Amino acid sequence: MTLAIIHGYKDAIDKTRGPVKLTFPVNRVIPVNKKIKADNRIHTYQQVKTYIEKYDPIAVSTCFCRHEAKLIDPSDDCGKPNEVCMQFGMGAQFVIDRKMGRKIDREEALHILEISEEAGLVHAAINRQEIDFLCNCCSCHCMILKTALAQLKPGLALNSGFMPEWDRDLCTACGTCIERCPADALTAGAEDRPELNMDRCIGCSVCATGCPSEAIMMIERPGIPIPPVDQKALKEAIKASRK
Ligand code: SF4
Ligand code: SF4
Repeated sequence: MTLAIIHGYKDAIDKTRGPVKLTFPVNRVIPVNKKIKADNRIHTYQQVKTYIEKYDPIAVSTCFCRHEAKLIDPSDDCGKPNEVCMQFGMGAQFVIDRKMGRKIDREEALHILEISEEAGLVHAAINRQEIDFLCNCCSCHCMILKTALAQLKPGLALNSGFMPEWDRDLCTACGTCIERCPADALTAGAEDRPELNMDRCIGCSVCATGCPSEAIMMIERPGIPIPPVDQKALKEAIKASRK
């Protein structure tokens, strides 16, 4: 009975919403820092570890997208880690005060990044230079990723500002990167080597972190605008994109 009510409620909400069209990226991906080519220019807002070092307190809470899915259907479980959504500074204090999450130290925050990367989750945050949350998203449940991946060109709706580059001598054509890519941006090309569709690539580095041959590094992607400085600038950019 409870499940039927939840299903009915969700169906009704989904119908009123309709498909979301993104005219300016509301969120962005933060790439895995250790897979970025050392000679590239890396801004602090492109490094998750910068936020972990900078903010106090830091909190972690359950991924509400995967949690919602399980409430609706207890068998709907993709097996990805659940307690991986992080909040920073005021955002962290908000969830700690309301017991929606728990305070963690920097060591645990770094460990959460590690397990998220191993699981192929995408680091996603609000598209501004200062962030107050960092979700670790799966493409099967998370609203940020699902909304972006439903766009005609997901690579422009959500992006880190980076893209993968292959060392073809190291690549053994094992196919792991193709399987791991959450955006379906990779297909098997000549000799089963991965081929990249830039329209779909969100620059998440999940391909690079999973490559057993260390054949992929992330390089800067030209043409991706830098994140707006703050919430006011983000709102103005969204407004301007709708004109
Ligand atoms: S995971 Fe690495 S080795 Fe395997 S196909 Fe992709 S780039 Fe090549
Ligand atoms: S190819 Fe796929 S996994 Fe690699 S950075 Fe692009 S979207 Fe992420």
